[in-house]
Amino acid sequence: MNNIKNAEILCVGYELLHGDVVNTNAAYLSEKLDSIGITVTHHTVVGDEPAVLMSALSAAFERVDLVVTSGGLGPTYDDLTKETVAKYFGREMKMHTHSLERITDYFARSGRIMTRNNEKQAMMPEGATVFDNDYGTAPSLAIEDATLGKTVIMLPGPPSELCPIFSEKAMPYLKSRSHCAIFYRNIHFFGIGESALEEKLGDLMTNSQNPTVAPYCKEGEVRLRVTAKADSENEAIALCDAMTERIKDSSVGEYIYGVDTDTLEEAVVRELKKHGLTLSAAESCTGGLIARRVTDISGASSVFLGGCVTYTNEIKEKLLGVSHETLESFGAVSKETAVEMAIGVRRVTGSDIAVSATGLAGPSGGSDELPVGTVFIGISTKKGEKVRKLTLSARRSREYIRQVSASNALHMVLEYLKNIEE
Ligand code: ATP
Repeated sequence: MNNIKNAEILCVGYELLHGDVVNTNAAYLSEKLDSIGITVTHHTVVGDEPAVLMSALSAAFERVDLVVTSGGLGPTYDDLTKETVAKYFGREMKMHTHSLERITDYFARSGRIMTRNNEKQAMMPEGATVFDNDYGTAPSLAIEDATLGKTVIMLPGPPSELCPIFSEKAMPYLKSRSHCAIFYRNIHFFGIGESALEEKLGDLMTNSQNPTVAPYCKEGEVRLRVTAKADSENEAIALCDAMTERIKDSSVGEYIYGVDTDTLEEAVVRELKKHGLTLSAAESCTGGLIARRVTDISGASSVFLGGCVTYTNEIKEKLLGVSHETLESFGAVSKETAVEMAIGVRRVTGSDIAVSATGLAGPSGGSDELPVGTVFIGISTKKGEKVRKLTLSARRSREYIRQVSASNALHMVLEYLKNIEE
């Protein structure tokens, strides 16, 4: 960025302080600012109180170059963000004719009566850059004081307005003031935890300045974001790619399941399409989650044939042909049952690949021999069958155990597809 290096997000609204509304705007803005190389150092929340907002603004500008506010741009008496910020910068409020016309037009089109309060939304601090709001009535705006090196961007509170305005209008505004290009790649890992990753990558992860390498975790997965800054986009891409290759070639390379892939299920659908193969699923403890996650991906119908949720032993036998003896001798939560479930659903659907999941998601149930968190994932293909046993912590939530089980099933499919290539 030209002179903007760091930012503070200042959210306004008693509803946030009282816990009535979760501050999703701050999370969204942090992620977006980070993606263009602006580090968010603070999140602040204040009530709809001009004096408090003023002192929060002053404090923020002691720390950062950019303040992004959310909320308080509405038509009501307590919406005072613009007025307070104008006062901070010593700017007069003036009617912004273009915004007034847009608001008038908005009301005329929607057949609603426009009040004098709504006119207030078209009052802008002198010298502000106004961003039209295509999603509501309150325009957003930016004020820049080049001498002081301070910029503020004001956005409406409703996320349905804030998110598109920020990405469509405010991000280009910030980027146009930047002389440097930012580029990032996401490297997705499965089967290795954050701390093991950090230990194995060592300095590459902890001491890299440009590109930086930052970890993000979610249930059973780790993503490393490699972010590079350079004078041109090509240089930034080259820096990112060189670091990505180093990580791929390192000892953690075998855990990578994709670069710039969003999710395991997206990678599964993409790879199945690439190989012209089909998939089905037989699920017990995941209760349909594998099928749900695969079918969340648009275009999954060309590769996912279907699945069965077979929760009881009887249905495992009836629908999938799991043998009575297997269930009697080894139990429903066993590698033998997982294998027969996968074979069964592959036979029923005629898919090339079938996965299965059977286990104890808890929190009740479980025994010393078979504790909660024990899950067997099976896969059946023309090359035969394989099983993966998971021993997840019984302290984990039911949701966690189910999600990680589904992720392991998807990962086994990806591994099979990767081995076909090799
Ligand atoms: P409006 O014209 O709707 O009054 P506004 O800019 O004045 O817009 P607020 O009144 O502060 O916005 O907030 C409107 C609604 O937006 C809140 O009731 C809340 O549901 C949602 N909202 C506000 N701030 C946030 C936030 N930080 N995160 C998520 N939602 C928020």
